[in-house]
Amino acid sequence: MSNAVATGDIKFIEVVKVLESIEATTQRTVMSRLLSSLLKKTPPSVIDKVIYFILGQLRPDWEGVELGVAEKLTFRALSNASGVSLKQVEDLYKRLGDVGETAKRVISMRVQQGGGKSILEFLGGGGGEELTMGKVYDTFMSIARASGEGAQDTKVKLLTYLFSRAKPEEAKYIARFVVGRLRLGVADMTILDALSDAYKVPRESLERAYHIYPDLGYIARLIAQEGPAALSKIRVTPGVPIQPMLAERLSSAAEILSKLGGIAMVEYKYDGERAQIHRTRDGEVKIFSRRLENITHAYPDVVEYVKEAIDAKEYIVEGEIVAIDPDTGEFRPFQELMHRKRKHDIKEAMKEYPVNVFLFDVMYVDGQDLTNLPLIDRKRKLLEILKPSEYVHLATWRIIDDAEELDKFFHEAISDGCEGVMCKSLKVDSVYEMGARGWLWIKYKRDYRSELTDTLDLVVVGAFWGRGKRAGTYGALLMAAYDPKTDQFYTVCKVGSGFTDEDLVKLRQLLDQYKIPHKHPRVVSKMEPDVWFVPAVVLEIIGAEITLSPLHTCCAGSIRPDVGLAIRFPRFTGRYRTDKSPEQATTVDEILEMYKSQRKVKIEESPNP
Ligand code: ATP
Repeated sequence: MSNAVATGDIKFIEVVKVLESIEATTQRTVMSRLLSSLLKKTPPSVIDKVIYFILGQLRPDWEGVELGVAEKLTFRALSNASGVSLKQVEDLYKRLGDVGETAKRVISMRVQQGGGKSILEFLGGGGGEELTMGKVYDTFMSIARASGEGAQDTKVKLLTYLFSRAKPEEAKYIARFVVGRLRLGVADMTILDALSDAYKVPRESLERAYHIYPDLGYIARLIAQEGPAALSKIRVTPGVPIQPMLAERLSSAAEILSKLGGIAMVEYKYDGERAQIHRTRDGEVKIFSRRLENITHAYPDVVEYVKEAIDAKEYIVEGEIVAIDPDTGEFRPFQELMHRKRKHDIKEAMKEYPVNVFLFDVMYVDGQDLTNLPLIDRKRKLLEILKPSEYVHLATWRIIDDAEELDKFFHEAISDGCEGVMCKSLKVDSVYEMGARGWLWIKYKRDYRSELTDTLDLVVVGAFWGRGKRAGTYGALLMAAYDPKTDQFYTVCKVGSGFTDEDLVKLRQLLDQYKIPHKHPRVVSKMEPDVWFVPAVVLEIIGAEITLSPLHTCCAGSIRPDVGLAIRFPRFTGRYRTDKSPEQATTVDEILEMYKSQRKVKIEESPNP
């Protein structure tokens, strides 16, 4: 190959330069502009590779393709490629604490010393060739595919090859990518915006495609190669997860019924893990989580249960996997399911933490996309294909048109160990609304009255150093809610209570991986914490109430000019929402809704409104 970039590829250094600029900006608009101009100049045949790279993934999450490269292996490759000893590389890493900066330094040492040639010869490379996005990505894929005996050595060799050719700043991003710490804070929504701008495609058509087929690389390449009209070809496909439908929340039975037109299908709301279960034409069963990760490996028993209980060749059904006490049949806490995620001792975990599945929806059966059918027809279909067993059940449900009866059913659900009920619209337009949080489904959970009626899942965007007993850890965290309209995070409270000593240590370790020197461009804040983070970690927070606050940016101006909403007396519940991405956190609109309904309750309860 000559020095020139093959047509249909882009120099890797061009992508790297954009990533450096993204890392340097604190403004969302600049970030979008940079991304969109990069996508515009990227040739269609590698646009998918550029997008996966920026997202820090090899393929969409749900495919579960992993590089399998640990830090140690990366250091070996760096050492091989540079002639710098392994010990020196590791020492440098200990000092810098960032694998990217370490790689950059090590490779610049090679460049200064003119080293690394021998390894190129050893690998049969021509030397001097510039890296392209295509080449980097394809090498990553070969690294991911290396398996079996000698896999580690093959991975090191391939990585050595990349580092040998890389410029120092290229090495920085290659190293971060392979150890899974690219962490630019670019989300799928950010890419959708950039694509919409670069290819002049309406945001709605892109979103529709993304809800049905959440693979941004695929979508981008389709538009780039065939034009935006090709998006209409995208169909619901077993094996490819769709974005889950989400629920709004209300805290009174009467309000719920009136919102749903006086009648609803009310179901138990199980407290487990949401599961989208697919069976593909070739008989393979795959299970996807709430955030569309492939979690099949954690539930081999569920795979067998559904094969037995569902009578259809190809399908997509949805339900909740719940931990069960095998002796009493009672539900166990949601946290028990986390043990299932330990990949190594899954057989042991299966015995120790048995589960049942409660199905509540069906989206596809034998060639037929059911997402546009009203709920009652989908339920009918579910009843048709399901032969309930000891392990697979239909979620308990009832059709209710009376507030008192709804409350009674709600209490039954609670005493049966559920979190509350889900109330679902029965109207003709009660379709399965992918990726939307709408009023077709309303959750009705235990009502704390004096406290907030529900917990919030908020994103950590900054932290304040602890003092006294908390010195050396973060004493308080700056938390934010998400606004899908602007794809940004708005601060809503500073939380310092509810953390155990272990939490404080764990959070320091967890958060430090996301530390950045300035505010992230997707964060909107009036506060200046001691440390800023890439929005990544989601924590469950409970508070006393939602109040007006000039200090926070959440819903600023919605109630009063320049005044936002804040959570009063916020407290960490102890639940790390690793099952949620930052974009699945509580939204600013939900907080506004909670503020309004709380005011309504107060007025109703006050003797002199
Ligand atoms: P959300 O999923 O709405 O973002 P969340 O993860 O915090 O929020 P909840 O607010 O408690 O969860 O409620 C929604 C979840 O309830 C669903 O994602 C699903 O996992 C679970 N669920 C349990 N039973 C049902 C049911 N019968 N129908 C729909 N969802 C149910």
